[in-house]
Amino acid sequence: MENQIESQNVPQTIEDAVCSSGSCGEPAAADFDAKRLCTEHFLAACFQELESRNDRLKSQPADSEIESFRKFLNSSVEQARRISDGPQPVDGETKTQLLEFLLRASELSKRIRRSPRLTASVPVWLRREDPARTWEEETWTVTTSRHGAGLVCRHAVEAGGRVVLCRRDKGSRAQARVVYCRYDGDGRRQIGVELLDRDDFWD
Ligand SMILES: [Zn+2]
Repeated sequence: MENQIESQNVPQTIEDAVCSSGSCGEPAAADFDAKRLCTEHFLAACFQELESRNDRLKSQPADSEIESFRKFLNSSVEQARRISDGPQPVDGETKTQLLEFLLRASELSKRIRRSPRLTASVPVWLRREDPARTWEEETWTVTTSRHGAGLVCRHAVEAGGRVVLCRRDKGSRAQARVVYCRYDGDGRRQIGVELLDRDDFWD
């Protein structure tokens, strides 16, 4: 008897939670963005998220975007597999959609792995070696040209100041002079530098 009462008080399990999309009311099968969704709504949300992240990555291939895309892919693929292999019967159409999603997700994760940076965003260490103000930060280029680059920079630095760039992918190093310092649309400080001692730095 005691056991029975206990089991009735168990908090909502995955099986008895319902889909939180509109008035759907179907049994929930997976989590998406902290919401419980049924298989159909989960897949629709995943497909949409996949494509919009893919588009965003084309215009902004920053490391942070790639990292969060990777996390999304890992978690959605794991849940789609669990639904597909789970004990709940899945109808033919849903099965096809699950497979389609898994294929598309695996295609995109391969693409991310193969070319982590789709445009000329090069990871660099930016250093100031002025004895009075020495600092170093990890950043990346926004633009590159034969003799210069635009970079995101967290430290304040004046035009005319000297910095050292060190490529995180290759280890090569170059002296540079700051030509401008301004804020971009996202409120990040960006600096433009002119390379002083080499013109093959970006290959
Ligand atoms: Zn639903």
